[in-house]
Order: sequence, then structure tokens, then C-alpha cells
Amino acid sequence: MSSDRSAREISAITNYPRLLKRYARLLEIASELVSMLDLNTLLQHIVDAAQELTESEGASLLLYDPQTHHLYFQAATGPLNEQEKQTAIPAESSIAGWIFTNNEPLLVEDAMSDPRFFREVDVLTHFKTRSILGVPLLAKDKTLGVIEVVNKLKGTFEEMDLRLLQSLAAQAAIAIENSRLFQQSDLVAEMVHELRTPLAALTAAAHLIQRPELEDDQREKLSRTMYSEVQRLNEMATDFLDIARLESGRISFVREPVHLEGLIRECLEIIRPQAEAERITLATEIDRSLEPVLGDRNRLKQLLLNLLTNAIKYNRQRGQVLVTLRNKGDELLLSVKDTGKGIPPESLPRVFDRFYRVPAQESGTVGSGLGLAIAQTIAKNHHGIIEVESVLDQGSTFTLRLPHVKSAIS
Ligand code: ADP
Repeated sequence: MSSDRSAREISAITNYPRLLKRYARLLEIASELVSMLDLNTLLQHIVDAAQELTESEGASLLLYDPQTHHLYFQAATGPLNEQEKQTAIPAESSIAGWIFTNNEPLLVEDAMSDPRFFREVDVLTHFKTRSILGVPLLAKDKTLGVIEVVNKLKGTFEEMDLRLLQSLAAQAAIAIENSRLFQQSDLVAEMVHELRTPLAALTAAAHLIQRPELEDDQREKLSRTMYSEVQRLNEMATDFLDIARLESGRISFVREPVHLEGLIRECLEIIRPQAEAERITLATEIDRSLEPVLGDRNRLKQLLLNLLTNAIKYNRQRGQVLVTLRNKGDELLLSVKDTGKGIPPESLPRVFDRFYRVPAQESGTVGSGLGLAIAQTIAKNHHGIIEVESVLDQGSTFTLRLPHVKSAIS
């Protein structure tokens, strides 16, 4: 037996209690992970566990987005803000990308001298990265993303760290899949709940309309109710399908140059009859010579139509809708401003939530409460965002902020 080998064996034996302790901790963590259904809480728990188990300075978790074909930081042991979460980490030129694409773990002793190291990562995670150990998050039939730990606190990363991180990743991938499935079943439950109101109205009307003693005008009123409830169910079905597809990532976005001015004019023609019925005027202020954005024209059209429909639906008679398009820094700003009832400040943070409707407006108008959630998801898929400002009894302005041609859907 060589002295080198026996030294290694002695070190393995003396390390045994430490290893056992760390495996015992891994088991404890694994059982905690299965009970977590909220995705953000779960991901945070995973990175904290990765840092603890590998005794490193920090850890982060990236998930793959099939729509944009990039990885995105979803959790880190340090703080991560929304903008950082939206920074795309290229799959072809980063360490995380290499791990993801090759589906293999990777240890990089000196990140700075590795050509794959994507330097923006240090800015994002607030680390001075020396070494990185990363493993893929493998679910049954696909790779979900990557877990990385950086800078071993004492010494360098060893085989034991890799084994522990791989075992954690296996548990983590199952927990992430579970949480996603749970969120989907949650969506189904919410949808079914939303169907109850129009269905109850329809059932009641269908029942009443059979009464022989009804006057003609009562019968006509009931049949109008039935018609509008059926229409409402129809709209809901379309919206349900859209939000389910968008949230599950089953829709792929095309990338094509889109001239927003042309798109605005097309959408205004579509909603003009609705506006005229309410005597609402439509106006535009459009900066000339704007560059096209790179995006999915049909989806952007859906987004804009949702904003315009709301601007009419929640406006007053003889009101106005103003659409503006202008350049600001490296963004294009597209605003839809109305002169309607406005949105109370306490409701503003919730209007993009799916199924949320401002309570005071619910009775007067028909809607699924999904239009803005759909619009916001489309905006985010273009690396953009929709913001809202509103003054009660004066009106609301919804603004889509889109990055310029180079950065939209990269
Ligand atoms: P809905 O199908 O109910 O219109 P949305 O998701 O499009 O659903 O909008 C959510 C809620 O936000 C609406 O129910 C309404 O209360 C409020 N809202 C949206 N747009 C406007 C607007 N332009 N003015 C006032 N309130 C609005």
C-alpha cells in the first residue's frame, strides 16, 4: 500500500463523522423541501442549504426559461432585486450555461481565468468569485436549471462537496417540479371558481324563462342576460387558455421586427366601434422615426388591445383615450391614458394579479380579471414591464416599457 493511499484513507476515516453529520443535515433539508409549495420560499431554502452543506461563501440558483432560452437567477444567498432576476444569463457563454447544456457538474478553481465566466454575475450576486462548483438541476425528463456555490470558506471544494450538492440538487429538482404542479392545480381551482358566477346566473335565468306567467319584456330581459353570460363564459374560456399556456411556458414567442406605430393604428381601428358607441374619442401622440422593436407582433397586439379595451370599458361617456409612443433612454414607452373612474390606491398593486377586479367596478362591467395579468406576462416575455398610474375620478395611465431592438427577447 503506498503511503499516499494510506494517508488518503486515514483522512477519509477521520473525516467520516463530519461527512455523516453533513449527510444527516442533507436528509433533514430534503424532508423540509418536500413540504414547501411556494416556489420563492422553496428556492431560497435550496440556496441556503447549498451554502450550508458545502460550507461556502454563497450560493445561487438559476432556472431555465424555455421561452427565452436563457437562464435567470431566481434565488441567491445575498439579496436579489427584480432587475437582477430579469438579467438573462446566456446559455452558450457562461459557467452556468455550460453546466446546463452539458448536463454535468463543473468545478472551476479560478473563475477569473475561465473564459466561460460571465462577469456580470459578480455584479449581480455581489461576490468576488474565486472558485465555483455547480451542478445541474435534473428532473425526470429535463434539466430545470443550475445550482452554484462559490468560494469555499476553508480550503478548496472537494469530492464530498460535489456529492452533497448533487444529492441536494436531486431533491431540489423534485421539489421544484412539485411546486410548479401545485401552482398549476391552483390555477385550475381558481378558474373553476370563477366559472361559478356566470354559471349560477345562467342556471337561474334558464330556470326562470320557463315560467308560463312571464311577460314578454321579462322573457326578453332574461334571454339578454343569458346571452351576455354565455358571452362572458366564452371570453373567460379564451383568457383561461391564454394564461394557462403563458404561465406554463408552452407558448413560444417569435422574434420579428415590429413597428409599434403601425400596430397602434391597427389596434385603434379594431376598438373604434366600441369607442364610438360610448362617444369616446381616440387620440395619438407618436414620435416619428422610431426604431422597430424585436418581438412577437401578435402577442404585442393582444397586450395593446387589452389595455385599449380597458381604457374604454372603465372610461366615462364622452371621455378620451390617448395613446402615446416615445423614446426614453434605451427604452420605448407606450402609454394608454384614459379619462375614466381611476383605480383606488389600495387596488393599484393588485390590478396585475390574475382574477383581481377592483371591487367598486365589478358590478358595472363584465370581465375575467385576467386581461392585465396576460398583458404583463407578455411584457415580461419581451424583457419589458407595464406600469400603472391612476387618479381617482380623473383616469389611469398604463405604460408599457420595452427595451430597444437589441435587448427585447434576446
Ligand atoms: P377585467 O377583465 O376585469 O377587465 P383586467 O385584468 O383587464 O380584467 O383588469 C383588472 C381590473 O383592473 C379590472 O377589473 C378593473 O377593476 C381594473 N382596471 C383595469 N384597467 C383599468 C382602467 N383603465 N381604469 C380603471 N380600472 C381599470
